[in-house]
Amino acid sequence: MYTSLLGHGLGSRTTPRFTVAVLGHGLGPDDRSAFSVSVMERLSAERRRDPSFLESVDIYFDKAASLASTTPDILTQIKACNNILKVQFPLKCANGSVELIEAYRAQHSHHRLPVKGGIRMAPNVDADETMALAALMTFKCAVVDVPFGGAKGGIKIDPTKYSINEKEAIIRRYTSELVKKNFIGPSIDVPAPDYGTGPQEMAWIKDTFEHLQPNDINGSACVTGKPLEEGGIMGRQEATGLGVFFCLREFLNDKASLGKMVIVQGFGNVGRHTIDSIHGAGGKIIAIAEANGGLVDESMEGLDIPALKAYHKKKGTITGFPGATTVKNSAGILELPCDVLIPAALESQIHSGNAGNIKAKVIAEAANGPVTPSAETILEANNVVILPDLLLNAGGVTVSYFEWLKNLNHIHFGRMSRRMEERGKKVRKLSTACSHLLDTDGKGCNFRTAAYLIAIERIATCYRLSGIFP
Ligand code: NAD
Repeated sequence: MYTSLLGHGLGSRTTPRFTVAVLGHGLGPDDRSAFSVSVMERLSAERRRDPSFLESVDIYFDKAASLASTTPDILTQIKACNNILKVQFPLKCANGSVELIEAYRAQHSHHRLPVKGGIRMAPNVDADETMALAALMTFKCAVVDVPFGGAKGGIKIDPTKYSINEKEAIIRRYTSELVKKNFIGPSIDVPAPDYGTGPQEMAWIKDTFEHLQPNDINGSACVTGKPLEEGGIMGRQEATGLGVFFCLREFLNDKASLGKMVIVQGFGNVGRHTIDSIHGAGGKIIAIAEANGGLVDESMEGLDIPALKAYHKKKGTITGFPGATTVKNSAGILELPCDVLIPAALESQIHSGNAGNIKAKVIAEAANGPVTPSAETILEANNVVILPDLLLNAGGVTVSYFEWLKNLNHIHFGRMSRRMEERGKKVRKLSTACSHLLDTDGKGCNFRTAAYLIAIERIATCYRLSGIFP
């Protein structure tokens, strides 16, 4: 199966530039060499092993920082995670037992307020992962010029193992902990959905916050990604996936990704809506990898997505879908030949162990941090173009920004006109960010480093102009 590479040329815009040239700017020679030494140390370390997610974000940051015109003191401030909150609280389980739940909220940068970032529920949540995700939010917001600092939350549970009532209790107690510690509020810190959470969890957060802070007239703006009836905005649920599609279309420099063979990892919120948009535009989804197995379309004509969605809705899984071959080893799906591979599940999925086997021509990072630095080195040597998470999955926070503004405005706009208007603004924001990134093509760094560089320069300006309190 899939023994030959598919013949689909990429536009010239996607030609990677991998020579590393230091752009001339404001660091003194000593400062610069200090930074270079630390970058070199990290680069050689990265060849020996896959760094952790947090180390990976630091490595990507350092690569860009070594090219920035920013002074080392400001770079140090930008890189650091400002606050990390760990809470532990008891949950009374349905069977009468009591379980201790561990959860986090990291606020990476307060250069813009409020800080913003999703809340994840997953068994592997820890402080480092939460800080890595919060840092990505800081840089992502800066790349798309959305005026938020970066944050992220995590609750260390497997949500599939808890009843709906237990999940509600966990979310409400977590929210109350955030309120007590001043880690949530429309002007302070505004969560959103992420891995394992969705509109229902956001509705519970809003309700809990409004109960605990009844005098805050802007209470509904304490969280985004809410159901429409609870102050949400049309299009938020599909926003991240749609954003992945918009960016992919810009980078591939074709009108609608027509005819591209695409493989997606993850059939959750981001994966599903990415698949929908690509399928709607004529792209062919030839395989999907899920946590419990995957689907491969042997005909390579592209999966019947409406039929698959109906099957998934009924069965709660994609495996066993009659229109495709079910495979147990979903990790192997990432290594099948295709034009575009879209990891839309979790971080570090493409690592030093499988990067050499990847046959895709383009990797579009819908998930946060799916490619480790060691994998990136291997992929670049094989001329695989990586479109970075900082831009690709920024559609969600961009639409969240409009939801937050809508809540603060206290006005209920006509739904259709508003939807079209917001969608138009979102497309403009993302396409402006894509253009900035494409403009950096040829300046001697890859798209990820360019995205970090754009973010660093913007945040640095903010730090410099704000000065230091007191
Ligand atoms: P989700 O929980 O809705 O879906 C994730 C899916 O990935 C699930 O279906 C799960 O079964 C699958 N999965 C988990 N491990 C897997 C594996 N090893 N192989 C294959 N599939 C696997 O989560 P989501 O909201 O779609 O988030 C996915 C990624 O996108 C995360 O990295 C998240 O941080 C990022 N992201 C999400 C949003 C958002 O708006 N939800 C915004 C920006 C970035």
